Amino acid sequence: MKTYLMKIASLGTLSILLTSPLGASDWNHTEESQGRDGTLWANIPGVPNENDAQMPLVFAACAVGSHQSPIAINLTKKTITVNPMIPPPQRQDNNPQAEPERHADSLEVRYAPSISSAEGSGISTDDGNAYVFRNTGHAVQVSFSKGYPGKLLVGKDVYPLVQFHFHTPSEHIVVTDKLPARKPYEGELHFVHQREDGGLAVLGVFLDASKHYAENPILKKIIENTPPEHNAYNTGDSGLPLDPSKLIPVENEHVFTYAGSLTTPPCSEGVSWYVMSEPLKVHSDQIKQLHDILKSNNNRIVQNTNSRTVQIHKDLQVDHDRDYHMGR
Ligand SMILES: [Zn+2]
Repeated sequence: MKTYLMKIASLGTLSILLTSPLGASDWNHTEESQGRDGTLWANIPGVPNENDAQMPLVFAACAVGSHQSPIAINLTKKTITVNPMIPPPQRQDNNPQAEPERHADSLEVRYAPSISSAEGSGISTDDGNAYVFRNTGHAVQVSFSKGYPGKLLVGKDVYPLVQFHFHTPSEHIVVTDKLPARKPYEGELHFVHQREDGGLAVLGVFLDASKHYAENPILKKIIENTPPEHNAYNTGDSGLPLDPSKLIPVENEHVFTYAGSLTTPPCSEGVSWYVMSEPLKVHSDQIKQLHDILKSNNNRIVQNTNSRTVQIHKDLQVDHDRDYHMGR
């Protein structure tokens, strides 16, 4: 077993007031909750956007919620304060099975390799470790079986990884002194996690594209295997290994956290957001290929921050190349 712990230092806390939203759990493995067609993705009614027509009015939270996502993460605000460093969890190398104590605010990504399935929607009842390539009609997505062992650890809370998907361009925007123009990144990757009690946590990774960057091999595999038809699974290939941890940028500095919502209808609030400061570098052609699969932008526009605060997490740990047991 080889475990690499990557400690990521960060800067401080961007302090804003945070009122805790209700814990909503409208997103899980089932086909029903993710929608059979395009009805689970759209923008707020009344906001000019090419996708307005797809917004079902029944999802009231999208229109009236006060803790909606995405947001502009504004680092130029005067409310930045420095938090004390959070000590990283101590590993007991002589006993790798033992779970170390975790600090209440610790944050650890512990993803595992998985194997593709051709079972399509049947994967939701699969107890084994498997995933499927999916075209939801509004995102290129990789959905995991219930037996997938990858997870996000937030303090003592365990959030199993349910799926990840891509947006082009990015949904969140980072505003800094150097980048005051609110320019989005070319893309954003969302790792969606759900606790057993339904609580949701999403890890966001920006995609920075350039013709000078190398092609990302994992993204290549996803693009090649996602069916071009909307609302479809890849039912052809199975047995392809995929390690989502390889989509986490290794040079990340810190993580912005705030309370938000799903960015697709039903726009449920109570979602804990963790947005990495450093982007994953991908070749420009890959962004175009992602975009071409959906044939339209699939980003929700930034929402009002209202009275929310964004915190900067000091320590994010990512287990790369961890030797996981396949299955539970
Ligand atoms: Zn998303």
